[in-house]
Amino acid sequence: MSGDDCFKVLDKIFVPKNKQNIDNIKGYTMKYGHIVENEEIIDEVLVSYFKAPKSYTAENMCEINSHGGNIVVKKILELCLKNGAELAEPGEFTKRAFLNGRIDLLQAESVVDIINAKSEREAKTGVKQLEGGLSNKIAQIKQEILDVMVNIEVAIDYPEYDVDEVTNNQIIDMLKSVKEKLENLEKTFDNGKIIKEGIKTAIIGRPNAGKSSLLNRILKEDRAIVTEYEGTTRDTIEEFVNINGIPLKLIDTAGIRNAKDEVEKIGIARAKEIAKEADLIIAIFDSSKNLTEEDLEILNLVKNKKAIIVLNKTDLKSAIDENNQEFKDFKGKIVKISALNNTGIEEIYDEITRLFDLSEINLDNEVVITNVRQKNLISKAIESVDKTKKTIFEKMPLDIVAIYIKEILEDLGNITGEFVTEDIINEIFAKFCLGK
Ligand code: GDP
Repeated sequence: MSGDDCFKVLDKIFVPKNKQNIDNIKGYTMKYGHIVENEEIIDEVLVSYFKAPKSYTAENMCEINSHGGNIVVKKILELCLKNGAELAEPGEFTKRAFLNGRIDLLQAESVVDIINAKSEREAKTGVKQLEGGLSNKIAQIKQEILDVMVNIEVAIDYPEYDVDEVTNNQIIDMLKSVKEKLENLEKTFDNGKIIKEGIKTAIIGRPNAGKSSLLNRILKEDRAIVTEYEGTTRDTIEEFVNINGIPLKLIDTAGIRNAKDEVEKIGIARAKEIAKEADLIIAIFDSSKNLTEEDLEILNLVKNKKAIIVLNKTDLKSAIDENNQEFKDFKGKIVKISALNNTGIEEIYDEITRLFDLSEINLDNEVVITNVRQKNLISKAIESVDKTKKTIFEKMPLDIVAIYIKEILEDLGNITGEFVTEDIINEIFAKFCLGK
């Protein structure tokens, strides 16, 4: 429970072994006792006390640790509600922490990222953001702008001193440096997106090429953490695997599995659709057979994409190999495997690691943008920098330039949540699960 009255509610349902006045109980302490209703003991519990502002929400808080299970927990919750508490909305605890100024919006967003993390790397990125990595970067950029802003205000207030020239140069230098920093942040989004959403990977190939055999090899990988969950439509299943720390989101795995019964459904048209939304395509061919018309269409599909060509069934007598004329336009890597004998699969992983070099991001030093809201605002701030530059080159008066510079500050303030609107706040916290 969090809020001014939480100890009052607690007092009505909790009987500690050593009763003390709440004013004498220090924050960060625990008390042993019983939750009771009409003198009947509901459970034996430990209660932790947090005194404002030293708590998650920066309000008075208490946490009841019961034995757990469904019935008792539900009963205790009911008792809290009956005695004046209200059920928390999704994300309400974190929202209060934000509204009370304990964390900024970037840190609040990172809590969702940590909770929903599917890989260790993603969780680490979240924790880094919670520690204020990105917030500090933004604060530094803002400070750089403010330092110049002070001089501008002086120049505006004391027009009798001819400081325009100096100030203009200062502004131009500052804008250049700010833009560079913002662009570097913007660039991290591609990697951030991969960390968060996984590399959308599609395995395509004509029937019997070995798609589902390869899929099963990948999913059975010892190192793979497989999470199966339903995609947006009922029949799509997305599966996450970690390949050497690189998260792959395998798309249309249901399509591959169902292909057995409904071969014609997985035609070239479907392959085209899947290829369009994929970040990486693994195109698989049966090397024991000559290339068919369908194979050529698939080749055509992957020509200009990030793709790996896999020649499967190398345990059989080969009819085609990587030197075939048809492959000569393909710039990527051609890997020979036998899904049956489990050979060559490692080479696919090596190529994926090479294609998506996440080691570039040094998680210990670099902050990474992981969500579209942050990315869009950074892009907007860059636009504002460009607009400001233009006003200087057009020799606009300083007070006009100042207005544009304030716009950059506003964009940056929106990222950390200083000027953010209630709608946006609600949207962000709606993504939380209940009570977090
Ligand atoms: P899909 O239709 O593309 O999903 O292909 P499957 O994975 O179902 O494979 C089609 C057939 O080829 C099955 O009978 C597999 O056992 C067989 N197969 C798959 N990979 C290999 C391989 O590397 N060598 C051989 N000899 N047979 C394979």
